Amino acid sequence: MPPLRPSRLLTLALLAASCAPEGQLPLAVVALGEADGALSLEVRPVGTLTHLSSLQGEAASLRVGARVNLDPVAIQEAIFRGEVVDDQSLRAFILKDEGAPPAARFDLSELEGWGPAYLGADLHAFSMASAYAAVEGARARAISWGLRPACHAPLPIYYDLHYVDHSVSPHPLIDDAAYFDLLGGLMILPFSPGETLPAALNPGVLSHEYAHALWDCLLNKLQGTQAVDRALDPASDFLLRALNEGLADFVGAGVVGRPRYLASSYPELRERRDVSTRRALSPELLPGHPDFVADPYALGAVYAAALWELSEGAGVDPVGAGMLRGLDQLRARLPGKIEQAAPLDATTLASWVLLGLRADLALDRPACEIFERAFPGAGEAAGCAL
Ligand SMILES: [Zn+2]
Repeated sequence: MPPLRPSRLLTLALLAASCAPEGQLPLAVVALGEADGALSLEVRPVGTLTHLSSLQGEAASLRVGARVNLDPVAIQEAIFRGEVVDDQSLRAFILKDEGAPPAARFDLSELEGWGPAYLGADLHAFSMASAYAAVEGARARAISWGLRPACHAPLPIYYDLHYVDHSVSPHPLIDDAAYFDLLGGLMILPFSPGETLPAALNPGVLSHEYAHALWDCLLNKLQGTQAVDRALDPASDFLLRALNEGLADFVGAGVVGRPRYLASSYPELRERRDVSTRRALSPELLPGHPDFVADPYALGAVYAAALWELSEGAGVDPVGAGMLRGLDQLRARLPGKIEQAAPLDATTLASWVLLGLRADLALDRPACEIFERAFPGAGEAAGCAL
């Protein structure tokens, strides 16, 4: 089926035939995707959806109407009063409204060559179905890479979230998506009409955010570690953030199969986050250098580029599986508490990921070569025969 262009969305809507019958599970939804660098409507199978109008399923559970208020001063005062003592009480303090499952309307469309699929009756229903399908796709891919069952739980998606961060602006933020560890879910902020693709409709962006949920599950939740326990020294904290962003960029690009998956939503990031650009560690990317600007994405791009280069020869799936094993290596080595922490460094972190990749004999040699080139010393630290 050739990709449909967004301009045909209206035509498609007019073809919609009947409402979704209650109780019948959908086999597919119409969602926005990307193919060959162009936006396209796709019929996406959604095998894990257990309830259509509320978009609940094994992969994700949508919530609308939630409100988050992040006010650093109010949080400090609540800590002084003893109201906020851990992650749970902090979550309760900032989450002013938990929201509720949506009641979205879908029409059953019978399209020539496509078979039956449910199409959102309005933009939000369409966009929520696209978000669900994207997370389902990323999760299925991670499960095929060997993701532990403990991390298979449905991901809460706070759709159209009212999110105020007083350290940034007194007004609700818009036009973004992010994984928020305190909520344990994905936030999709309201989007304004424009020329770029809303994050909710960009499967690569949602796969990137899903990767952050994986990181949180594998490195924090499995260990019962709270974010507050993992407060390392600022430099180590930055290095972990950078690795987290780098792995997420590999997952975002890998799941949709496009190295510049961000470009349609964030054109300004097209070159900076292109995972197919060869990169190597340079001193100014690291804390302590006079030109250091604390950009975790810039350092993360070195990890993402190494993984992508490896996947160009070996395929995305073996590298994804190796990356998950790398996260196991990381969990085994990271300190759980601040007082046990020795400062981390970017090359050691790369060597731990490399250990996970090396466990696949087919990846061993190319992984050692690519990582040693990108992070000099990482190959030796991982025991590569160089
Ligand atoms: Zn990210």
